[in-house]
Amino acid sequence: MKRSVLLLCSALLLIAPVTSADPSPSDQGGNVPSADTENPRYWITKSSGKTHNRSCRYYKNSKGHGSDTPSGNDCKICGGASRG
Ligand SMILES: [Zn+2]
Repeated sequence: MKRSVLLLCSALLLIAPVTSADPSPSDQGGNVPSADTENPRYWITKSSGKTHNRSCRYYKNSKGHGSDTPSGNDCKICGGASRG
């Protein structure tokens, strides 16, 4: 009885790595670099004219527009164009 359980366990251990390796992480892409209109380098807030980089919580989270050109007025939180 115990022996059959042990056999079952070892059988599962043998199968497990094969099934978990099934979804291969290759050829999925999704790492398109820059120059896309969806994710501009900076976000210029309309009301303050401040530049936010992608790491900022205001990036795309305030009224404004995306731009690759900084406004010259960097956000104090993220550093705007001086960082990011
Ligand atoms: Zn910011």
